[in-house]
Amino acid sequence: MGFDRLTKGFSGLRVLKEGLTGNKGWTPHWRDPAPKPEYDIIIIGGGGHGLATAHYLASQHGITNVAVLEKGYLGGGNVGRNTTIVRANYMLPGNSEFYSHSLKLWEGLEEDLNYNVMHSQRGIINLFHSDGQRDAYARRGNQMIAQGDDAILLDRAGVQKELPYLDFDQTRFPIYGGLYHKRGGTARHDAVAWGFARSADSRGVDLIQQCEVTGIDIENGAVRGVQTTRGAIRAKKIGIVVAGRSSQVAAMAGMRLPIESHILQAFVTEGLKPCIDHVVTYGSGHFYISQSDKGGLVFGGDLDMYSSYASRGNLPTAEHVVEAAMTLMPMIGKARMLRSWGGIMDMSPDGSPVIDRTHIDGLYVNCGWCYGGFKATPGSGHTFAHLLATDAPHPVAARHRLDRFRTGRGILDEEATGSQHNLH
Ligand SMILES: Cc1cc2nc3c(=O)[nH]c(=O)nc-3n(C[C@H](O)[C@H](O)[C@H](O)COP(=O)(O)OP(=O)(O)OC[C@H]3O[C@@H](n4cnc5c(N)ncnc54)[C@H](O)[C@@H]3O)c2cc1C
Repeated sequence: MGFDRLTKGFSGLRVLKEGLTGNKGWTPHWRDPAPKPEYDIIIIGGGGHGLATAHYLASQHGITNVAVLEKGYLGGGNVGRNTTIVRANYMLPGNSEFYSHSLKLWEGLEEDLNYNVMHSQRGIINLFHSDGQRDAYARRGNQMIAQGDDAILLDRAGVQKELPYLDFDQTRFPIYGGLYHKRGGTARHDAVAWGFARSADSRGVDLIQQCEVTGIDIENGAVRGVQTTRGAIRAKKIGIVVAGRSSQVAAMAGMRLPIESHILQAFVTEGLKPCIDHVVTYGSGHFYISQSDKGGLVFGGDLDMYSSYASRGNLPTAEHVVEAAMTLMPMIGKARMLRSWGGIMDMSPDGSPVIDRTHIDGLYVNCGWCYGGFKATPGSGHTFAHLLATDAPHPVAARHRLDRFRTGRGILDEEATGSQHNLH
């Protein structure tokens, strides 16, 4: 770590110095530039993935004549609305190596960004409730170990030791055991957006907020630039990274993406003393939970099963989630819920993402993260930057092709809603 970083970046020494001198030396995390008439690359969407792409374009490829265009404010989308779970427990070839790569980037992220994203590897336990589910988790765990990641299959007593507060007598979905992924955990979601933003900005990328893209200019099959609420901006390459709005923005280029937008809700209680020190998932009941560093119990369930662009949920889902919570851990009934919120998910038919070029020269798309894209943030940014810079897919994202939905080849069916149910 250089002297500059110690005195101008974030460090214990810097905090001490500022504390002793009235905290007058802190400056805004990023500039507020006006858009230039032209950039080498425009990234549409200032969420986690767009900002990470900008960071890696600058830091890995030396490409800094880049603008990130955000219609609202940085981090106001799903990157600031998720339940912060980070893990590498995917099973299928294609996803397995991608999320493994992403978790390794997480493990060095704070050093890379010189920013405290509060990455906490507190461990994730996925509960199972039948012999069949145990077999499926054993298979998944073996695949994770084969990929070089960690997995431990816990029996019922093993789960009881780690999570003594669960109701082991409930008969709806009795607990048979759990798959324990110790390197999984959480990270502070908005700090992740801010850390990537600060790094990209400090390397020369323009982060332009309140700038909605309203059109994509295409001439002779190649992109020329975008129309925005702050005027036209030209660019040689454009990356669409807008999560729940992917279909709408791609439609500006005349494309129809295989994406449906759905709401996913989450809930948080008042701050409590530490009582849940892992991430726990209860798939059979559609419920998962962790405790934030502020003490709130953060939990959620399944999607609202209808398409919508409204960032709010409905009461039947809230009731379903809270019922599942009470079944699994009746102690939660004593906590008071503070608030709930929703985000817009870009659901792909096979539950897996797209990181690809399109049929239009210079137009690239990054979407289909469904409800699992937060953990992918560094991996997505890293591999999308590679694609934008080199025009070749990064090896760990090589299976995330857009045409798999047209050809049927290479479907990555994490959701078991498509052609390979047996691989769920
Ligand atoms: C309740 C909830 C819980 C979740 N929990 C988890 C979890 O625990 N773990 C996990 O891995 N994932 C989780 N996710 C999913 C994860 O949050 C998303 O997959 C991920 O954040 C999507 O990528 P992003 O951060 O780039 O999206 P966003 O932050 O949504 O970024 C997209 C940006 O594009 C901007 N935009 C849209 N249209 C335009 C336009 N026309 N012009 C300019 N800008 C535009 C938007 O304003 C937005 O800021 C959860 C999501 C929700 C809602």
